[in-house]
Amino acid sequence: MKRIKIIETALRDGHQSLLATRMRTRDMLPIAEEMDKVGFFSMEVWGGATFDTCIRYLNEDPWKRLRDLKEVITKTPLQMLLRGQNLVGYKHYPDDIVRKFVEKSYENGIDVFRIFDALNDIRNMELSIKVAKEQGAYVQGTISYTISPFHTVEKYVEFVKKLEELECDAVTIKDMAGLISPQDTYELITALKEQTDLDINLHCHCTSGMTPMSYYVACEAGVDVLDTAISPFAWGASQPPTESIVAALKNTPYDTGLDLKILTHIKKYFEKIKKKYSSILDPIAEGIDTDVLIYQIPGGMLSNLVSQLKQQDAMDKYEEVLAEMPKVRKELGYPPLVTPTSQIVGIQAVMNVLGEERYKSVSKEVKDYVKGCYGKPPAPIDQEIAKKIIGDEEKIDVRPADLLEPQFEELKKEAEEMGLVKKEEDILTYALYPAVAPKFLRGEAEEETLEPPKETGSTEISDAIPTEYSVEVDGDVFDVKVVPTGYMAITDANTSNQPSGPVEGGVTSTMQGMILKLKVNLGDKVKEGDVVAVIEAMKMENDIHAPRSGTLEEIFVAEGDTVNAGDTLMVIK
Ligand code: MN
Repeated sequence: MKRIKIIETALRDGHQSLLATRMRTRDMLPIAEEMDKVGFFSMEVWGGATFDTCIRYLNEDPWKRLRDLKEVITKTPLQMLLRGQNLVGYKHYPDDIVRKFVEKSYENGIDVFRIFDALNDIRNMELSIKVAKEQGAYVQGTISYTISPFHTVEKYVEFVKKLEELECDAVTIKDMAGLISPQDTYELITALKEQTDLDINLHCHCTSGMTPMSYYVACEAGVDVLDTAISPFAWGASQPPTESIVAALKNTPYDTGLDLKILTHIKKYFEKIKKKYSSILDPIAEGIDTDVLIYQIPGGMLSNLVSQLKQQDAMDKYEEVLAEMPKVRKELGYPPLVTPTSQIVGIQAVMNVLGEERYKSVSKEVKDYVKGCYGKPPAPIDQEIAKKIIGDEEKIDVRPADLLEPQFEELKKEAEEMGLVKKEEDILTYALYPAVAPKFLRGEAEEETLEPPKETGSTEISDAIPTEYSVEVDGDVFDVKVVPTGYMAITDANTSNQPSGPVEGGVTSTMQGMILKLKVNLGDKVKEGDVVAVIEAMKMENDIHAPRSGTLEEIFVAEGDTVNAGDTLMVIK
């Protein structure tokens, strides 16, 4: 009898989807040995947003987390999520860095690599797949699943055949927004089973509520492996509960053979852990949201849009923005909405509605996307729109990383000169997160404090209008503070030297984020509209423009500083 295998995701996707990826290693280790006894196909513990969160918020070394888990989990293979040429970052890295990162991930304990590309552009996946295979790892080539007139079963089969040629061991259907219906699940898996020899793994989020049904139908169609999360970290924006799927399949031809008693013991442990993190548990992420099916946007992105509109005091435009989303997605060639394309499409839709003219204002990312710098869109981009976005600028049609020079040696030297390197992995941490890593690697980062759990339960609704939101973008959660325009919200030590009121000639930040680049120095002359700084917010680079011409008289921020919406960054006189 065929047994359905289970991948347990609590230690990566489960807490990424529900807890803003904030679970500490010290909360994982006490139960790891018990989890190792269950007999999971693998445990997903690394990659995705875990790397970023470790160094940005937890003051934890992601490499050490992996090694510590590997020490306790000796039988079950450890798995990571890798964004192809983007690794665990948000842009394409040169080949030498991709190679080194995959080698080091394997060396530190990763046995199973799940590799995807947001556009399903195989060229962005080839190298990481090849290097992982060279190490002897098990590789799941991945479909970023979406729905559009261009995403047919035939196209998916064609893509999976390419993954098979690259010697992937399995294919994962990665349904990050919980879009796949039971019927579509059946058709896709049946076709893949008939036309390829790869093992098939289904990875869904429960966002739309259909997922447990799709999982059962997947079994009927011949799926080999299902992704689930232990129940305290299941449902909503996360995977279906491990115990429920195990129980549902018991005594059927798809029995997992896993022991519900051990799982219940593990569940009890994670119930306590969940309580500990209740202050960051997002009720939106815990719910079901079929809007995702109507507007083609993941539920998490909806809350993102809401908070952006609130920040701009433009909630009356909500319906308009919703209607704009599918239009933008179509015009841009139907990209699957997953990091980073979800942000690219979402923010453009907001800009199109709030701006005076569609596509008049575009982010750097949208320009790069249209130029082909992220890879080939699934469908052609609307020609007129493309012209509006990039004008006569040339498009690229080569593999985006072919345009990148090797960088590892140079970054190694740089990091060593800065005194950041204690082990080789530190160079990679620096290469991936040059703005955040130095503080962490110097030992100057601090662990974010966790508020104590509320006694009354987290569903209580307060009368006060909330001013801080957790905004989920495709499973990664960002903290957004909303402040009335014209006032300051100084909550960060970095920004305490800023003036505490509106300043004449002040350049203010329109969003909460991190100063990525300062493009000006004290005394520089700037013209109205010049880019004076680049701020990274919700993983997008956003230019800050000079509101007037003049001379830079004061600069209150440095690269790497966190700023809030409304903060004065500098003064032009
Ligand atoms: Mn996922």
